[in-house]
Amino acid sequence: MTPAKATHQKTKQHNRDLVLQTIFNHESVSRAEIARLTKLTRATVSDMVAGLIEAGLVEEVGFGESIGGKAPILLSLIADARYLIGLNLAQDKFIGSVVNLRGEIKETVEVPVDDTDGEQALQLVYQILDRLTQNDWTPLVGIGVGTPGLVNTREGVVVNAVNLDWQDLPLAALLQSRYHLPVTILNDSQATAIGEFVYGANHHSEGNLIVVTIKHGIGAGILINGRLFQGDGGGAGEIGHVVVQENGELCRCGKYGCLETIASARAVVQRAVTLAPEYNTSTLAQNPHDISLSTIEAAWRANDPLAQRILADAAHSLGASIASLIGVLNIQRIVLTGDMACFGEPWLQSVQDAMAQAALSRMAQDTQLEMGTLEFRACILGASAFMLLEDYSLLFSHVYD
Ligand SMILES: [Zn+2]
Repeated sequence: MTPAKATHQKTKQHNRDLVLQTIFNHESVSRAEIARLTKLTRATVSDMVAGLIEAGLVEEVGFGESIGGKAPILLSLIADARYLIGLNLAQDKFIGSVVNLRGEIKETVEVPVDDTDGEQALQLVYQILDRLTQNDWTPLVGIGVGTPGLVNTREGVVVNAVNLDWQDLPLAALLQSRYHLPVTILNDSQATAIGEFVYGANHHSEGNLIVVTIKHGIGAGILINGRLFQGDGGGAGEIGHVVVQENGELCRCGKYGCLETIASARAVVQRAVTLAPEYNTSTLAQNPHDISLSTIEAAWRANDPLAQRILADAAHSLGASIASLIGVLNIQRIVLTGDMACFGEPWLQSVQDAMAQAALSRMAQDTQLEMGTLEFRACILGASAFMLLEDYSLLFSHVYD
């Protein structure tokens, strides 16, 4: 291909992606509106739309309101034109789903994960994907994986996932050669952030967002101008293993006093067990062997002093860590999700208060904490959507060469 031809091809692809993105962002939209939003000419838009219709991705769905002349024809994405698989490996079971282009889950397979070694964990991933790829979801255009741990997305390598016993595992290459599909690997908190951003109840198509996932571990996903920010080493948002308490508890990463040792779901349960003997009046002290997140939640809602203390400490540390994120990034929309969300609005409010105490007050005032709406599905949807956001070409691999 000559350089001029290559440039032309690139421009065409760029325009096509702009048009497709605009159709993605609307339930239905006219060609004229696309031209206005993308600043492309009407002729270019018509040309690109014709290609998208031919590729089976977009259809005409009726007429919009006329603003003077002829009523415009509305265009809409065909939700089931393509399918993707999203995996969430960050729960106490592995969950995989086939997802369509509107983030609707078509089929889900789960397998329990007990104390597995790295090889067994990999076999479980195969088990899920073998089943999901067997059925007739065509065309299936890619697999996105959200995994705990540090991930090098560019290389498709899980650098270190302690719980799954994976070190430098070339997961993308392994899955690509087995299933012959494009594969992307993301940290689960980052995948969750994309899921909430693209498909959550208050979803946006542009702008900035931080999503903090608080489960056994704690991690944040950061979107800047609608794109995932991963940092130089892929670990942007790894706030869980930043030390927040000197001489604190031993963390599973080997350090002492990480945020995870105070504010995670695991830490809350662990601290209740440890502190229960000091709290005779606590209902938790009466049944120390039955302490779980749900018994703590019940005690907390009944104003139990031990549960109150543990939750206050957790919210305090989490709020302070979020204040640091705000200080660096000044992102005003922050979503909290994960197991700790079972503590509901009062917990959210106490994190918000702790954040406000620790941050510059004007910046804190303008920062809104809210609850996520997708739970574990956010990771699945985000892992699959990431591929599309990064490269729409995926959708055309079955149409063009
Ligand atoms: Zn740690």
